[in-house]
Amino acid sequence: MADRFFPNEIPPETSLTPQQDSLSNLLSLPFTTLSDKLKTSAFHLKQTIVNETWGPSGKRVEDYSLYTGALGTAYLLFKVYQVTKSENDLKLCSDIVKACDSASKDSGRVTFICGRAGVCSLGAVAAKYAGDERLLEHYITQLKEIKLPSDLPSELLYGRVGFLWACSFLNKHIGKDTISTARMRAVVDEIIKAGRRLANKGRCPLMYEWHGKKYWGAAHGLAGIMHVLIDMELKPDEVEDVRNTLRYMIKNRFSSGNYPSSEGNESDRLVHWCHGAPGVTLTLVKAAQVFGDKEFVQAAVDAGEVVWQRGMLKRVGICHGISGNTYVFLALYRLTGNSEYLYRAKAFACFLFDRAQKLISEGKMHGGDRPYSLFEGIGGMAYLFLDMVEPSTARFPAYEL
Ligand SMILES: [Zn+2]
Repeated sequence: MADRFFPNEIPPETSLTPQQDSLSNLLSLPFTTLSDKLKTSAFHLKQTIVNETWGPSGKRVEDYSLYTGALGTAYLLFKVYQVTKSENDLKLCSDIVKACDSASKDSGRVTFICGRAGVCSLGAVAAKYAGDERLLEHYITQLKEIKLPSDLPSELLYGRVGFLWACSFLNKHIGKDTISTARMRAVVDEIIKAGRRLANKGRCPLMYEWHGKKYWGAAHGLAGIMHVLIDMELKPDEVEDVRNTLRYMIKNRFSSGNYPSSEGNESDRLVHWCHGAPGVTLTLVKAAQVFGDKEFVQAAVDAGEVVWQRGMLKRVGICHGISGNTYVFLALYRLTGNSEYLYRAKAFACFLFDRAQKLISEGKMHGGDRPYSLFEGIGGMAYLFLDMVEPSTARFPAYEL
């Protein structure tokens, strides 16, 4: 187990001694000095990522997805634009989305993270900020034309909630009812029906399958599905099913506090956003905020401890790396206001800033199969560094609204 993560030897804030090592020095800096360093690093990373994934004059896009492909670069540029307000960043974001639009025309994938809904909704939002009404209409129309196959799974990366998330993203940025409640409600109905059918009066009220496994994590399972459902307008009995599904997960977590990657899986190994405690924590934080149950606050805090102990992964990305796990502390900071969580977020971010590139070049840390991508590579790290500038508004990319 120990080979998956670095032992967390970062001292608590109260016993931090500057000059001990480079990491302690970084953590001792005034917040604005540190965030300026992270911001500068993010801008350098962005330039490298653009050069590698797009090139100086633009390439034909092969992988258009936000997860591993060009749309991830566009999403990072949109984040950069929100910090810099530079028209150049927004223009480049729009150009890349345009290439993704062409590349995804015949794609059967429908979600935000891996499919065409991501292209259409990010395209629409970028067009809105650029003041291009015609392009805005084009992308909204394209999104509305996406058809969900009847055998579509419910999970986040390829399934129904991944489409719903794109609708919520659009409604947040463009305006309520850009995608109507009726359209979204029809998708929610399918998700609830599928969940109750598979649960079949079992101990958990909602259950889902992806490729024959009943996953629990954010990417393919219950945590991701509940996370998106909580944001929908649910009927009272549906709210109860969502709350009881989360209670079932809490009751059946590992004794370590971590969460199984799928129903009945007894291997307590993965502490990722995609599988394990980090993704579950983000859902529990949202449940605590929306439903107000104290038990969800406590469960989120418990899961956050697992991430602190075992979450300093030997990987860089947001899906299954340190960058993604840092968002757990940012979410807990937002929920509790406890500055200890902000310190923990700073600690993980500073560890990356101080060592990631060196550890990757030495082969001691995995830089991702797609090393410049948003979800597996340094794209996620750059995104995180920008979010550290305003920690209270930080959101896990393409997942927290
Ligand atoms: Zn992953």
